[in-house]
Amino acid sequence: MIEIDGSTGEGGGQILRTSLALSMCTGQPFRLSGIRANRPRPGLMRQHLTCVKAATVICDADVQGDELNSQSLMFTPRKPRAGDYAFNVGTAGSCTLVLQTVWPALLLADAPSRLLISGGTHNPMAPPFHFLERSYAPLVRRLGADASLTLRRLGFFPAGGGEIEVEISPAADRLQPYDLTERGQKIDSYAECFAPALPRAVASRELEFLGTALGWNADRLRVAPVRQNEGPGNALLATLAYEHMTEVFTQFGEKGITAEKVANALVHEVRDYQLSDAALGPHLADQWALPLAIAAWKRQRSAVYTCTTLTAHAKTNFEVIERFLPVGFSTKQTGKGWRVELRPMK
Ligand code: AMP
Repeated sequence: MIEIDGSTGEGGGQILRTSLALSMCTGQPFRLSGIRANRPRPGLMRQHLTCVKAATVICDADVQGDELNSQSLMFTPRKPRAGDYAFNVGTAGSCTLVLQTVWPALLLADAPSRLLISGGTHNPMAPPFHFLERSYAPLVRRLGADASLTLRRLGFFPAGGGEIEVEISPAADRLQPYDLTERGQKIDSYAECFAPALPRAVASRELEFLGTALGWNADRLRVAPVRQNEGPGNALLATLAYEHMTEVFTQFGEKGITAEKVANALVHEVRDYQLSDAALGPHLADQWALPLAIAAWKRQRSAVYTCTTLTAHAKTNFEVIERFLPVGFSTKQTGKGWRVELRPMK
């Protein structure tokens, strides 16, 4: 039984999700205390509980503490089973975080799986669907793990109602870790605003501000097609595509915050990334650690990546991964970012 203290480091939901994912992959049971201890409302919220339930169903696990607001959990998995699954967060909680919890185990399973997940698709403090589709999934595919992602319906806080469909192919024998230290040639950069059920002027003002600040012309500023009943919602995305990887940065509009302020926050994120030459931005840097560690463990091979900054999420994720897998992370500051090295330990 691996004992995890959920209040260490970043102290959020990622400690739970990475523990579930790696427990499913390795068969090791764990006990987690202090769940989301550093958050204003600690314990399992609907979205985290959906992650636990999804992991339980896929692994036919024995679980204790799987209740709303629970601050401790005991999880004992059996072998993950591929299949057709539907999971509903039931609120606007993030679909993509549920997907990231079960994705690793399903790619190690022995047959294809199909998932339908409903809830929020574009949430603050979670990977938006388009980030998973353009940034994260292509990197996972390059490990040898095929997957297709479809956005069936957008879902925003507070209404939710979004839906994603995902097909995951088995890849246990094919996983190959690789180094990711350079972005490669710049291919494209563009911004989009998803703003269902809002006046069109909101999207136009956000895009115009961003375009002026970054020097992006009108062709690169897009009001994304949406259905009015998918809203209300307001997500402003900047996509930077390079030869070896793509980054997607997102900001969300809120009542009482001007369109210009939303766009300005995104401009800062894009500029921070442009100032560095490291491959991965802050969010990819913490999320990439998990699939890469699984591939490094399976193949017994080292891998390296560079990232613009090393967040508390990333450092905490490295620590949780090291508790479940015989791998070690080491980090070193470079001129304009960080270099993360991952080694199998035996
Ligand atoms: P936690 O706060 O522990 O629930 O973890 C949140 C996860 O969502 C982390 O992996 C973050 O990197 C990720 N995340 C938050 N905001 C974004 C964003 N705008 N784009 C991509 N990933 C995000």
